[in-house]
Amino acid sequence: MQRMSLRFDGIALAPGIAIGKVMALHSSNRNLVPEKRLIEESSKELERFADALKETEIQLASLRDELKTRLHEKEAGIFDAHLLLCADRAILNDVKKLIENEKCCAEYAVYVVSEKYFEVLKNLQDAYLSERAGDIRDVASRIISNLTDCDIRSLGMDDKRIIASHTLVPSETATLDKKKILGIIVETGGETSHTAILARSLGLPAVAGIPGELIDSLQINDRVIVDGFNGRVILNPDNHAEESYRLKAQAADQLRSELEQESRLFPDTTDGFRVPIAANIESHLQMDESRASGANGVGLFRTEFLFLNQVVPPDEESQFNIYKQLLLAADDAPVTIRVMDIGGDKLPRAGSVAVEDNPFLGLRGIRFCLYGRRDLFETQLRALLRAGVFGNLRVMLPMVSSVAEVLETREIIHALQEQLASENKEFVSNLSLGVMIETPVAALQSEHLAGLVDFFSIGTNDLVQYTMAIDRGNEQVAYLYRPANPAVLKLIRNVVEVAESHRIHAGVCGQMAADPVHALLLLGLGVHELSMAPAAVPVVRRAIRSVSMYELEQLAAKALGSASAAEASKGVYDLLMSRAPELITEE
Ligand code: PEP
Ligand code: MG
Repeated sequence: MQRMSLRFDGIALAPGIAIGKVMALHSSNRNLVPEKRLIEESSKELERFADALKETEIQLASLRDELKTRLHEKEAGIFDAHLLLCADRAILNDVKKLIENEKCCAEYAVYVVSEKYFEVLKNLQDAYLSERAGDIRDVASRIISNLTDCDIRSLGMDDKRIIASHTLVPSETATLDKKKILGIIVETGGETSHTAILARSLGLPAVAGIPGELIDSLQINDRVIVDGFNGRVILNPDNHAEESYRLKAQAADQLRSELEQESRLFPDTTDGFRVPIAANIESHLQMDESRASGANGVGLFRTEFLFLNQVVPPDEESQFNIYKQLLLAADDAPVTIRVMDIGGDKLPRAGSVAVEDNPFLGLRGIRFCLYGRRDLFETQLRALLRAGVFGNLRVMLPMVSSVAEVLETREIIHALQEQLASENKEFVSNLSLGVMIETPVAALQSEHLAGLVDFFSIGTNDLVQYTMAIDRGNEQVAYLYRPANPAVLKLIRNVVEVAESHRIHAGVCGQMAADPVHALLLLGLGVHELSMAPAAVPVVRRAIRSVSMYELEQLAAKALGSASAAEASKGVYDLLMSRAPELITEE
């Protein structure tokens, strides 16, 4: 029977259009309690359980093999640990006994037993064992998915799907395989959440803000259209809607291939200002894509993603090899590597960091590096200092909110340099060190930071969040999240002026730089460099090539005195609309 067609307007997370069948995912954050359904014959139920277990093992083995080819052996090791749990005799016997004794369905038995083990492990003093508690839940939810059939994690399937989930945490998004996924729809998340950042970097159209009940009601053969330009989702579209979105998708593809032809053109304004554009990447494997986009080097490598899916954090040697590979691949172009920005919504696997009430205001970024896991920080810095001799390395500190943090980091770097010298290891002696300006305090105190560093990189994703008191990942307040708010523009202008007076450069690596209208506004404010996901480079380059710096400076000066974000961006919006309307994709 044809299901009813429904349309939802949510939040555009990542551009593009996807049309296809849906695949609902359990999120590890979601605690589904299966219903206790009583059964008549336990032998049949035991068979169902055995089948689901087998299916789970096949999925886990194929995930492990895929990850081994795409990432590191160690990351794939997570799935080895999960496979061991599937074969754990004590757990399996408990599930079977429960099915037999209580005559309950297998999914309920798996849930009850896994929660029992979860509680026991979670409360153990041994950090390694308590970390396994999360693994138990992960495996149990996969088995339950396979039993209930309404929620499948079989990423090994042949036909591409649109992923639907209540929430996807960054560590889950990072493991999605683009080859098997068309797009993403989620209930929670904002435009600059790290899930959105990863979706853009994977080139997957994504929309958030879709009601949870809708996600719960999805059936495996439901068709969905994801309009990542306008934040729209259409469930079971009629032929007319599907055809019209197919045409839109074709037009978007056509524009993308036209823009890609321009990758050798310089990002010069019509009055001759060349704007350095660099790429934001989350993995060293994105280097080819970044070069193909025409980006000049890397403006932000988010190294925390090397840590998020690891049971054991990457050691010095493996990090050294990744950074070296990246620097060599960039030739002499600058490569800005940000030390791990752990915390906020980027948390490693369960148990390895303390739970905080307000993680975005807690031990995040440089605070975590200095006072959470200084051992990991030192290992990372040693790897960076050693790799730096292979190219044009810049190292950047996230979430800086005081001069003391920079001074302390400089002391650590100095001590590590002495250590490396005593070990007769090669390293960079004059490391280029910068700070991210992503807290209002850093923007307002930039005068005092400037003398201590070689560059500023403005992280607008967080700067907007912290200035405007708007959780960047909360779809309920996404309507308030406006990067062009004059309060934010004033902070950016202040940082640029300070940078100029200290003769250092101030770039922007937040999502604001990837939006053509906002990018032009930033250039008008005097920002020296833009860094963005590779997919956005061709769009922003054409925008830059269609306007003059003189026009942008005039419009930005007016924007600073505006009362609202809409008023502040209107001038640049109208200008771009008159010169390159094809770059403005919202309806
Ligand atoms: C930012 O905050 O703008 C930024 C680039 O860093 P992240 O998005 O990783 O917090
Ligand atoms: Mg940030």
